Amino acid sequence: MADYDLILVGAGLANTLIALRLNAQQPQLSLLLIEAEAQPLGNHTWSFHGDDLTESQFAWLAPYICYRWSGYDVRFPMLRRTLSGGYYTLTSEQLATELTDRLGGQIMTGTAVRTLSEHSVKLEDGREIFAHAVIDGRGFRPDKSMAIGVQAFVGQVWQLAAPHGLTRPILMDATVDQQQGYRFVYTLPLTEDQLLIEDTHYIDHADLSLDRGRINISEYAKDQGWQLMTLLREECGNLPITLAGKFSRFWAGQPLAASGLRANLYHATTGYSLPHAVALADEIAKMSCMTSPCLRSLTYQFSRQSWRKQHFFRLLNRMLFLAGPATQRWEVMQRFYRLKAPLITRFYAGQLTLWDKLRLVSGKPPVPVIAAIKAIITPLIK
Ligand SMILES: Cc1cc2nc3c(=O)[nH]c(=O)nc-3n(C[C@H](O)[C@H](O)[C@H](O)COP(=O)(O)OP(=O)(O)OC[C@H]3O[C@@H](n4cnc5c(N)ncnc54)[C@H](O)[C@@H]3O)c2cc1C
Repeated sequence: MADYDLILVGAGLANTLIALRLNAQQPQLSLLLIEAEAQPLGNHTWSFHGDDLTESQFAWLAPYICYRWSGYDVRFPMLRRTLSGGYYTLTSEQLATELTDRLGGQIMTGTAVRTLSEHSVKLEDGREIFAHAVIDGRGFRPDKSMAIGVQAFVGQVWQLAAPHGLTRPILMDATVDQQQGYRFVYTLPLTEDQLLIEDTHYIDHADLSLDRGRINISEYAKDQGWQLMTLLREECGNLPITLAGKFSRFWAGQPLAASGLRANLYHATTGYSLPHAVALADEIAKMSCMTSPCLRSLTYQFSRQSWRKQHFFRLLNRMLFLAGPATQRWEVMQRFYRLKAPLITRFYAGQLTLWDKLRLVSGKPPVPVIAAIKAIITPLIK
């Protein structure tokens, strides 16, 4: 006898969006979210470009957006550019509040799941809960079937002593010392005197120290003339940047329906997963067959489609990570940001045309040609 229609394991970004969408579209379903941490959704901000979503996706996500801007800047040693287009940010605090308001009685926090099966989950304390379907949304699962680089960062939200003067985000300021890889600082002006500043590194291994990130942020703020007064929040993380992989082998290790990073659903070059999570939530909310096999089939197919679509991004990642010295990676990005704005928009939305792809690899290469060819043809997975 099932206790619930659907159990969502992990109350992170992807499963929360699925729960909210199902609650709106199929309110008759009984859901249970189980989260290991004391709070759902951790300690994050999630940003996205307006063009990453369809109009209808944006419409249902809009109530959860905390901050919005109508353009952004990028800065490189030989390029400064302002690009137009909506840029939006959600916070874990607000999304957790919305989730609790709508599904309060259906969230179990501080409860780690030990094992999952098609019809039940076993908790660390030995209890077993039964359901018609289970979705695994426990976040990134490292696997030998995937060769990855890392986007490592430390982010801090600061109350400043005086207004900072920014009117839009700086998505990449790569004029900074590159240290061990491609390094840039990402800044969101949250209010006129509050900033989120993230020290970001595209590096080979997840070995950015928290202290290094903190020092970098403090030095960057000083250089910009911002007087940091009170630290309001700090987050850090390592996002996978996929270089190559064996998709079927990855999913062979994932016998149940999955969402988010657990289902390999993220932009291969930026590591961002919000647009994928929104699209998957929409697909799941449309389903009439809410069983584990139906959900496994849907999430597998959805992930496979995304994997195929991102072949070119993995190839670009290999050029970024494997062709040329790590500290020259910024040149690849500077060249990218010289391209026409619609192409940049389609790049972030994962919607490159054939012409865009040709444009990206044509002209004077930013990395040595032989090294680029080697990076493309060398097998990274045995
Ligand atoms: C600091 C940071 C900033 C990011 N910024 C952005 C951004 O701006 N835009 C964007 O699109 N992406 C961003 N990302 C990337 C990505 O979108 C996030 O990592 C996103 O949270 C991934 O969603 P998810 O649902 O797959 O996993 P998570 O949101 O990580 O959720 C997984 C959840 O499962 C829980 N869990 C794990 N194991 C168990 C268990 N055994 N039992 C119960 N619960 C368990 C975890 O505690 C966690 O809450 C960011 C990532 C990080 C780390």
